[in-house]
Amino acid sequence: MRSTGSLPLIKEMNRSLILETIRTKSPISRAQIAKHTGLHPSTVTRIVASLLEDGIIEEKGMHDQPKVVGRQPIMLSLVADSMHVVGVAVEITSATGLIVNLHGEVVEREEQIWESTGKDDIVQGIKSIIDRLMEKGRGRGVKILGVGIGMHGMVDHARGVCLYAPAFGWKDAPISDLLSPHYDFPIRVENNANTMALGEYWFGQSNVASLAAVKVGHAIGSGIILNESLFVGEAFSAGEIGHFTVAFDGPLCNCGNHGCLETVASIDAIVRQGRRMLRDGVTSELLHLTGTNLDALDFSHICQGAALGDQLSLQLFADAGSHIGVAVANLINMLNPRKVLIGGEIFAALDFILPKIREVVDVRALAIPRAKVEIEPVGLGRDAVAIGAVTLILRDVFGHPRPGKTME
Ligand SMILES: [Zn+2]
Repeated sequence: MRSTGSLPLIKEMNRSLILETIRTKSPISRAQIAKHTGLHPSTVTRIVASLLEDGIIEEKGMHDQPKVVGRQPIMLSLVADSMHVVGVAVEITSATGLIVNLHGEVVEREEQIWESTGKDDIVQGIKSIIDRLMEKGRGRGVKILGVGIGMHGMVDHARGVCLYAPAFGWKDAPISDLLSPHYDFPIRVENNANTMALGEYWFGQSNVASLAAVKVGHAIGSGIILNESLFVGEAFSAGEIGHFTVAFDGPLCNCGNHGCLETVASIDAIVRQGRRMLRDGVTSELLHLTGTNLDALDFSHICQGAALGDQLSLQLFADAGSHIGVAVANLINMLNPRKVLIGGEIFAALDFILPKIREVVDVRALAIPRAKVEIEPVGLGRDAVAIGAVTLILRDVFGHPRPGKTME
């Protein structure tokens, strides 16, 4: 725990507590802030004055409520564009970088396809994205508070080290230390499924005490928020739902086990299965979409096929949905969350896959936790990981306790 008794620290904590209250409860009056935080009204008035002077919050006229007798209180809310953070999603085949404001709105965007996935190339690629965004930010007169990175693999977020990036084939990359010397703001790193969960918790209208964000793409993982805190486990591997065994004699996984969820339901596994069935002679619209070149078959073809009502495409998504549904049912039985949110590259196919996931969960999850959980697409869509990554910086600015906040 933080030591208490230092006056500047108490001031800073009170300031971030008030900011957090305004962020989550606005529009809110000074009196309501005092009531909510337990701080003395004079303290609230003083700190609010300083936040107004800094342009971080603004007064919003009169209370938009039914008229009450007497003076209407002046309401306060955040100025969305008073602060900006860069969020970067580092995925297996590409990366997306965003400049995001305090409301989680995307101001600028940069994309990069990985041509090489060596350790140095990935770090260089992340740096290039940050530099391009900073250039765009300067053009807009935007000040960047810091950079949050949602990273493929297992991440020690306290040290900013990617411990293991299975798809890239390397270990122990001190991402934060490699990038920090180039910038005068903080760089924080966290696993990409975890930043997806954080983004949903902060911005995605899923501000519930417990949720699991399941990320299905070239790999499968999940970020878990329990009792309002990100749960990362003892070795930062919590939420590795992709390695749930769902098929005892299934294909070999890159983790060494057989029949992991990832081997039958990742988008690569869906494409592989599609190719296999086409080679076996199944007739399908996919043959036309790929010009009969089966090696060219990719995930977008299967999405197109499903939209056209192609039976094979629909079957591939139903099979993947069944496997994901089994894993989600296990997750629900174990964690009893309020929400399970599905995102990642699979997002484009959720219209076809989500009904199957719900159907399987209805059958396989225990009735009591099933009755309490909603299974939905991530509210932030395709940008969920990168938008979530900005919370790694924002949680230092706003109050506490924050999900995953490290208290020294
Ligand atoms: Zn595995």
